[in-house]
Order: sequence, then C-alpha cells, then structure tokens
Amino acid sequence: MARADEVVIEIEDAVVSYREDVALRGVSLTVRRGEFVGIIGPNGAGKTTLLTLVNGLGRLLSGRVRVLGKPLAPRNAHHIRTRVGYVAQVQDIDPRMPITVREVVMIGRYGRLGPFHRPTQADRDVVERMIELVGMSPLADRPIGHLSGGEQQRTAIARALAQEPDIFLLDEPTAFLDWRAQREILDLVQEIHRRQRLTTLFVTHDLNALPRCDRVVLMKDGLIQGEGRAGAVLRNEVLSELYGTPITLIEHAGRQVVLS
Ligand code: ATP
Repeated sequence: MARADEVVIEIEDAVVSYREDVALRGVSLTVRRGEFVGIIGPNGAGKTTLLTLVNGLGRLLSGRVRVLGKPLAPRNAHHIRTRVGYVAQVQDIDPRMPITVREVVMIGRYGRLGPFHRPTQADRDVVERMIELVGMSPLADRPIGHLSGGEQQRTAIARALAQEPDIFLLDEPTAFLDWRAQREILDLVQEIHRRQRLTTLFVTHDLNALPRCDRVVLMKDGLIQGEGRAGAVLRNEVLSELYGTPITLIEHAGRQVVLS
C-alpha cells in the first residue's frame, strides 16, 4: 500500500552529459508521492534532461536515480515509462495524419496492455473517461492534425492519464498557447492534481503559474540553485539572479505578478 509521504523520485548527485555538453552537473532532488513540483530556469538549464531521468530514459555519467523504487537502468526503463505519464510542448502535426483524438488517447493504454493484447472494454472505458475529463468528448473523432494547440494539449494530457500513471511530467505544456488556452491547461493540470493527488513535475517558463505548485525548484547551468515555496521564489532578486536579467514583480490582487 502506497504511503502518502513515500519518496517516489530520488535523485542523488546526477551527472548527465551529451557528448561535449554537460547537461546536469550533480543534481539531487527528492519528491514525495502527491507533490506538485514546479521546475523553472533559463534555456539550457537542464530541466528537460532532469525529466528524462525521471522518465527512465536518461543515461547517468555518475550519481544515482530511483523512480518508484526502481534504479534507473535499461532493464527498468520500460517499467518506469509505463508508470510515468509525459506531456511535452505542442507539436507541429501534419493535418493529414490519419489518427483521431480517441486513437491517440488509446496509445496511452498500450504500455499497460503489452504486445499482442487487444484493448478490452475496460481499456475503452478508461479512454472515454479521460477524454471526458479533459473536455474533449465532442471532438473525440476528429483527426489530431485538425486541433487547436489547446485541444492538442488536452488530448496529450488524456493520453498520459490513460496510462494511469504514478508520476505525471509536464514539459512546458502551455508554451505557444494563447492566453485563454494557457489558463485552461493550467486549471486542468491543477484540477487533476487536486482530484488524484498525482505526483506532478511541471517545467515552465510561466512564472505566474508558480503559485499553483507546492514547491518550486530553481535550475541553472545544470545545477539546482535553490528551491522553496512560490512565495519565497517569486522575488525580484531571486528571479533576476536565476535568469541573469532584471525581473520585476508587482503585487496585484494579493499575489505577486511578473512584469518583465
Ligand atoms: P529549455 O528551457 O530551453 O527547454 P532546458 O532547461 O530544458 O532548456 P535541456 O534541454 O535539459 O535544458 O538542455 C541542457 C543542456 O543539454 C543544453 O546545453 C542542451 O544544449 C544540451 N542538450 C539537451 N539535449 C541534448 C541532446 N539530445 N544532444 C546534445 N545536447 C543536448
């Protein structure tokens, strides 16, 4: 039986390098079941690389990673990936791509089904529930190349949730979306977390989204530079130092809002 305070992600001194680039230079992070952790930092800080480790795909030069109790190793990669749902930025999809929203969401079930197993009625029920949860039922038969960015992200979230994951990774899910769609996706992610207490790691450049997180991790130059609650992170000096450019916050309706 899973305990509420159980550690589900344990990263110790992780070093990851891509040829000559060192992407992570000794990163340590512990995440407990049910936490909603925001990850921010400038381009190239190593945020996506960190998610890759949690997704069972990264290659460590040194250090230690355990996800859901399993060490990061090729023999565990498939198991970890089936337990981790992942949503990236909106992708450019060819409008001629002959695959519907419902079929995309069913892809989320295949990791659980294993090879040569056809989806059962129970799998189809999970898919319909997730499509409904993200508000895509009216568009379930539409080809995914015919969706707006916001609808595409809803579909991607439904696909990830159809896996019934233990960990949910979101890598800039609101990038390239208009203001309304950004807000709707953030509300949806927060609502899913509230309802399911699903452990969530959320990489974002949207600093105004941080109050939704239990904890915010600050990354720069392949290192974790600090972490804290949104209130402690949303400060002019902390953000200006992190991004290497002046950032000004103002207080509006009782919360800190980023001006520049
Ligand atoms: P962004 O905010 O721009 O998405 P990030 O914080 O997610 O950046 P990463 O994508 O993890 O940063 O990249 C960290 C470093 O590793 C960068 O210097 C990047 O160029 C390098 N890197 C990332 N992926 C690869 C790859 N597949 N091959 C070579 N270098 C890579």
